[in-house]
Amino acid sequence: MTVLSISGVHKLFNGNPVLRGVSLDVDEHEVVALIGASGSGKSTLLRCVNLLEQVDDGTIHLDGRDITDPRADPDQVRRRIGIVFQAFNLFPHLSVLDNVTLAPLRVHRMPKAQARAKALALLERVGLADKAAAYPDRLSGGQQQRVAIVRALVNDPRLLLLDEVTSALDPELVGEVLALIRDLKGDGVTMILATHEMSFARQVADRVCFLDGGLIVEQGPPEQVFGAPREPRTRQFLQRIT
Ligand code: ADP
Ligand code: MG
Repeated sequence: MTVLSISGVHKLFNGNPVLRGVSLDVDEHEVVALIGASGSGKSTLLRCVNLLEQVDDGTIHLDGRDITDPRADPDQVRRRIGIVFQAFNLFPHLSVLDNVTLAPLRVHRMPKAQARAKALALLERVGLADKAAAYPDRLSGGQQQRVAIVRALVNDPRLLLLDEVTSALDPELVGEVLALIRDLKGDGVTMILATHEMSFARQVADRVCFLDGGLIVEQGPPEQVFGAPREPRTRQFLQRIT
């Protein structure tokens, strides 16, 4: 079953094409890794999916519904698509629990007890139940990022978008976040993740898409893209970074 269908998406910034006709279908439970040089359009693509950017051409369907239709309600779409960014975007003045329950309470009008129970269960699952009352500055970067992922999961999204979620972490903290992503895959969470962690992409992704200049120039199972890349540009990129 197709959860997300990106079709011929173009995006320009100040007249400069940044996405030049990207098409990508993501199946339920599938994990898709986006790789590519800085500036290739990975973040822009994720931001278009979450309607943080408007596409200039093409369509994006979520569960068969065109979310790029101007009549689509962005709040409703974002309730169904969780996103986590590179920098932990936790609110510093709110406790961990309040960070996680803010959107369900304010935006989605979930009853308070339900939001709390849901948040605590998720925090428990990621090993952070004892931090529920703490403020973000008391947590390590890895813990903060795990809270950010919990916050994105609290509405049971159909799709989770992860944009370089380990890039801002000290190397010794990367592992705990990658382990959580691996667990989520085990739970069947459908994900698109932009990443610089090639070995992780290789282990966790069902499919790897290599972006270059705003286009997916190659995609396939990790063994193929990493082990036997067909496109010269993919080979060059992989040689440069390894
Ligand atoms: P990646 O995530 O692969 O590094 P991005 O999607 O962030 O790539 O960026 C792709 C290109 O779009 C870059 O050249 C970047 O400078 C440009 N870009 C991204 N966001 C904006 C913006 N808001 N305004 C102008 N240019 C942007
Ligand atoms: Mg990026």
